Amino acid sequence: MSGKYSHVIVIGVDGAGSWFREADTPNFDAIFENGAVTYNALSSNPTISAECWGSMLIGVGPEVHGLTNGIVSSVPYDVKSPFPSLFRRIREAYPDAVLGSFCDWNPITHGIVENNIGVSHDTAPDTELTPVVCNYISENKPDFLFVHFDSVDGAGHRSGYGLPDFIQRIHEVDKLIGDVHTAVRDAGMLDETLFIVIADHGGANDENCKGSHGGWTDGEKYVTFAATGKGINKTELDEMNIRDLAAIVLYAMGISLPVFDENGWTSQIPEGLFTDYEGEYRDISHLTGAAPRISKVHHESELV
Ligand SMILES: [Zn+2]
Repeated sequence: MSGKYSHVIVIGVDGAGSWFREADTPNFDAIFENGAVTYNALSSNPTISAECWGSMLIGVGPEVHGLTNGIVSSVPYDVKSPFPSLFRRIREAYPDAVLGSFCDWNPITHGIVENNIGVSHDTAPDTELTPVVCNYISENKPDFLFVHFDSVDGAGHRSGYGLPDFIQRIHEVDKLIGDVHTAVRDAGMLDETLFIVIADHGGANDENCKGSHGGWTDGEKYVTFAATGKGINKTELDEMNIRDLAAIVLYAMGISLPVFDENGWTSQIPEGLFTDYEGEYRDISHLTGAAPRISKVHHESELV
């Protein structure tokens, strides 16, 4: 590995929107005390899981990757796609890289990440998944690890986004984030790790406090992003898109970024994130601010 970091760990919190700001999150607060944080990262449109995680893990918008919840739940990601996932880009740059994808919602691993490129994986509800993840970290010291927690989104659908049960669930997931971070520290990796927490979308409630998402209201489209590690500024980021996760991870791992293309790769490094990166950030709001669509296809937690 010749990147700036030996390890990049990304924890995705489904449906959390910007509500990390309101929840009691002592672990998140401590981990990112000296990091870069925003509660205004812009989601992908429509604000639905496959569209959003696809944007983050592939670095292109939903109109380019074309993934939906129905597709990722039933079709393995094309190993020859002209838009490879982060995992494939890392695998091609570092054939020996240790890669893991541990997802509460397993279609991410099978429908957004290419199968058979040597990515360790497992799936379970997030409280059960966390000890598996911690054990994997201590035994394998992964170069790139993606972890997906789904229970916050489940609470939003059941009890309303931003309402007390939902906020309490973020508090519970904060403990899981703390457990993963502790595992990174205990494995002796922390000084060489870029540690990231990101949400895919938020949600909105109907008059009966039942939650949903897929539209483009503030509660759905603004999400939490936080990063910490050597070379990350202590700052509140002004502007970023969730799809920028792909560029951030590649840059951190010393892999050159694909050329920006409105019909393809639109993932960028947010201004002010890395101490040594000075590139300009392009406004892509015309790509993300299209008329909202509402999907009737929800993933498993969304059916609870
Ligand atoms: Zn989601």
